[in-house]
Amino acid sequence: MDAWGKISRLMGLRLCALLTAAVVVTTSAAGTLDIYFIDTEGGQATLIVTPAGESLLIDAGYGARGGRGRGPVQPADRDATRIIAAATAAGLRQIDYLLITHFHPDHAGGVTELATRFPIATFVDYGAPLGTPYGPDRMSVNTFANYEAIRKQGRHVEARAGDKLPLAGAEALIVTAGGTHIAKPLATGGGTNSACTGLEPHPEDGTENYRSVGVMVRFGSFRFLDVGDLSGMSLTRLACPKDLLGAVSVLLTPHHGDYDTNVPALYAAVRPRVVVMNNGVTRGGSVEHVETIQRQPFLEDLWQLHLSNNPGVRNADDSFLANVDDGRTTGYALRLSARDDGSFSVTNLRQGFSKQYPRRVALRPSATQTRR
Ligand SMILES: [Zn+2]
Repeated sequence: MDAWGKISRLMGLRLCALLTAAVVVTTSAAGTLDIYFIDTEGGQATLIVTPAGESLLIDAGYGARGGRGRGPVQPADRDATRIIAAATAAGLRQIDYLLITHFHPDHAGGVTELATRFPIATFVDYGAPLGTPYGPDRMSVNTFANYEAIRKQGRHVEARAGDKLPLAGAEALIVTAGGTHIAKPLATGGGTNSACTGLEPHPEDGTENYRSVGVMVRFGSFRFLDVGDLSGMSLTRLACPKDLLGAVSVLLTPHHGDYDTNVPALYAAVRPRVVVMNNGVTRGGSVEHVETIQRQPFLEDLWQLHLSNNPGVRNADDSFLANVDDGRTTGYALRLSARDDGSFSVTNLRQGFSKQYPRRVALRPSATQTRR
């Protein structure tokens, strides 16, 4: 069991934070960009630590929920505890940037608990919920009010598509925010995407999901794309009719791999070597979306934060599953370490399985794309 395993075990036993801090022995490997995909049972918390030691946390998972006859009560500190365990294992003393993709409880609900226990320097988001023609997105009302109260205590940056976060050691480019996307393709994109032919229309879902802040993190030849819960045409427009982004090394599934973000043309455009799915036991991880991922010819592996119990889902092999329980006891993360030559490794912190993804000599243009 590595240091993470010891920490998670201690957290599971609810020993005090002081004791947890005392057993921390792991720090980020020098010269690598490290990404911790933290299990929040179907929400998001993705911690990025640059070789310069700066940190970007994308979302903070859930706070308290449940009860009142709607299933088990979830402790308010569950996801904050898991995030702090990862941050501490990475040698961090604060979160330099907390990027909230949108104001739903599975992404911003954990901020209050996290902020009371771990310093957060700068908050990044798209401002405030934009609502719907029929009124506010009800899922965002309480979560945003709680989040805004915490945000006032730190520095706040409103992200716009095309902005770069001043993150030392890696580039973090905002590609979507508030329902808009970058005006021009990135240097790696720009081709016409023939996979857009016969595109299935995806209407907006009427929530804040489609306003999600999306970020492309680049470290040398390594690229990681995280678009939060971007869905509907705001997701599709990143890939159709032109590919605005180009190939990435690793993609986090939009909207937890749910059915409404099953956009094959997106996969044809960004051609990830590895997909990480931030699903829960039944949250996200739809049969159709998982099938789309698994049939991509360029895909080397799908990693899942959780075994999915959705009927009909073909889960990845056990080594690629961070958690296999019923969603109430374990909270293991996946840790990715990337080098600037584009190579990277992914480690399952449940049982230590690790896989290397060597540097690629050159990325060939996709057969589905033609250059302008
Ligand atoms: Zn979500």
